[in-house]
Amino acid sequence: MFKQVTIIGLGLIGSSLARVIGQHKLATKLIGADISLRVCEKALALGIVDEVTPQISDSVKNSDLVIICVPVGAYESVGQAIQGNLQEGAIITDVGSVKAEAIKALKPFLSSNIAFIPGHPIAGTEHSGPEAGFVELFTGRWTILTPVRQDEADIEKLRSFWEVAGAKVEVMTPEHHDMVLAITSHLPHLIAYTIVGTATSLETELQSEVIKYSASGFRDFTRIAASDPTMWRDIMLTNKEALLDILQRFSEDLSEMQKAIRRDKSEFLFDYFSKTRDIRRQVIAAGQAAQPQASSYAPEPQAGEQALESQSYQDQPGKAKQA
Ligand code: NAP
Repeated sequence: MFKQVTIIGLGLIGSSLARVIGQHKLATKLIGADISLRVCEKALALGIVDEVTPQISDSVKNSDLVIICVPVGAYESVGQAIQGNLQEGAIITDVGSVKAEAIKALKPFLSSNIAFIPGHPIAGTEHSGPEAGFVELFTGRWTILTPVRQDEADIEKLRSFWEVAGAKVEVMTPEHHDMVLAITSHLPHLIAYTIVGTATSLETELQSEVIKYSASGFRDFTRIAASDPTMWRDIMLTNKEALLDILQRFSEDLSEMQKAIRRDKSEFLFDYFSKTRDIRRQVIAAGQAAQPQASSYAPEPQAGEQALESQSYQDQPGKAKQA
């Protein structure tokens, strides 16, 4: 499919893509680049790349596909590094969880003869690093493409690439992507981080009981709140506008709920919880709920524990979720 592919950032997502490229022979040569020498050495030892380098600028020379898989906050430095070294006609894409700011950070460094097609696989786990990647990560999940220029042949080539990885592909504007992800992913993470944060600020005795009785709901939030702090800091700050908008709506709904409880509005609460239960059924029907046969976003429940019902991403035994 490609002569030479460069993956910049060999963590969970980058190393999973490297495994996909290797397994399906999607490139004659696969170059891995990462700022961390340890990560470079590990990727080579795992045999998931043909060559590896910590020199980001050189890594893209002669590649017809470049995939950026670093936290969104590092995009500008990657753009600066690869500027001028990209091959004419190359496709450059990414996997960042926020699209408008990602485009803003990278676009100034890309000349008009480069096909810039940002992307975001809605698949992941709370684990990081090249050891955490696995080839089935994208199977049955959505990948959203937000092309900067409407270059149909290149978009179709990238779509085929993701389909070989097992993903379903949708094209939309970066702004629409960011709004959808603010509600489906970024707000749930913000809530999880906050709930777990509230619990950790409780007095010691109560805190140990929170851990002890965590299977009653809290545990599912701890899994989400265990996600990579760098990545999530970058997501919250780079999708600020959409996230604050959704947060405002959420706060209003929360106040409504508070009022209903205070005023014993039993019917209101019952109807509300019935509606949300229906959403869960729709998620299952859409094949986006737990997938016991795959690997995951969250640690697998221990024997005797209840199934994780509130995972916001994919649930795969042994591994974990997505952003
Ligand atoms: P990860 O496992 O932490 O891997 C990121 C890798 O990029 C690390 O090895 C990191 O090195 C390296 N890196 C950081 N800055 C760099 C730079 N300037 N140049 C080259 N390499 C650099 O992260 P990930 O989970 O794969 O996430 C990568 C991207 O995928 C993010 O943009 C995220 O938003 C997106 N994404 C993540 C998920 C998910 O669930 N994890 C899902 C969908 C999309 P150091 O460790 O030394 O910093």
